[in-house]
Amino acid sequence: MCANHTEITPNPSHFEDSEEASQAPAHRDIAWNDYKDLIKGMRFFDPHIHMVSRTTDDYQAMNQAGIVALIEPAFWVGQPRTGLSTFKDYYSSLVGWERFRSSQFGIKHYCTMGLNSREANNEPLAEQVMEILPLYIYKEGVVGVGEIGFDDQTPAEEKYYRLQLELAKEAKLPVQIHTPHRDKKKGTERSMAIALEHGIDPSWVIVDHNNEETVKSVLDQGFYAAFTIYPFTKMGNERMVKVVEQYGPERIMINSAADWGISDPLAIPKTAALMKMRGISDETIRLVTYQNAIDAFGKSGQIDVTDFESGYAVDQTEKFHGNSILRGGQQPAPVKDFLVIN
Ligand SMILES: [Zn+2]
Repeated sequence: MCANHTEITPNPSHFEDSEEASQAPAHRDIAWNDYKDLIKGMRFFDPHIHMVSRTTDDYQAMNQAGIVALIEPAFWVGQPRTGLSTFKDYYSSLVGWERFRSSQFGIKHYCTMGLNSREANNEPLAEQVMEILPLYIYKEGVVGVGEIGFDDQTPAEEKYYRLQLELAKEAKLPVQIHTPHRDKKKGTERSMAIALEHGIDPSWVIVDHNNEETVKSVLDQGFYAAFTIYPFTKMGNERMVKVVEQYGPERIMINSAADWGISDPLAIPKTAALMKMRGISDETIRLVTYQNAIDAFGKSGQIDVTDFESGYAVDQTEKFHGNSILRGGQQPAPVKDFLVIN
């Protein structure tokens, strides 16, 4: 029954594939469209998604599925950057154009700022990036330092991870940790131990990309445990439901980490629907798909829920530095359910 999908080799965008084998979800053949109504009226907050890599279709679908706000962490863009100015432009887009674009689709946009672990290994460039980071972390809508941590677990990665922990401390911002996909357990433990060593309160740290092997220790030590729902590999949402059944909702949050690779910007609403099907309470679903992320990143002082909790007014004729999302002559908010495009 899964013949359509088994041929696909996932492109391991975040960052490399792990030792974990692909697991065929048991209910791959359930159509999302048939279950959308289960989550009608629910609101979702995606605390990890890379919108610069996504399309307007994604924004529209997310808005229609109930996503009212999101956090876009600064990350690796798929190929190494060659100079400081591309970092600058990228960071500026996270607090500028991308935030504007998101607002035009009714979604409140926040971001975290940081030097990703992979590019920490280019030390001459990393040095320069560290110099400009303080110019960005204090900007409006920046809710944390992230995503930072380990990829290959090299000495350079550790060096810049530590420096950025200090930056977060100084700026009184939460920390969003990317845990490595290879040697995950070791990398996760090491990331937490170093954060504690720097005197950071674990309730200010969101440890991301957890799985069944890491979650217990993360929660036991007082950190937030974020889970990325990956299509076809790693943490699918069937597994996520089981994690929530086992551990309950406290300090657990779900994200899509959708980016330029095979990923699903609707991972949160879909997982909420699956949880609902499996009899998980509405309150638990609300905590892991909305409230816990707000509590964790809200420590930045940058999140005001009145901005998005009862919807978000959209005027698609607005402009950002003279540029709008409407191409020449377009009318705002095209309806996508019709066959004829005009
Ligand atoms: Zn990411």
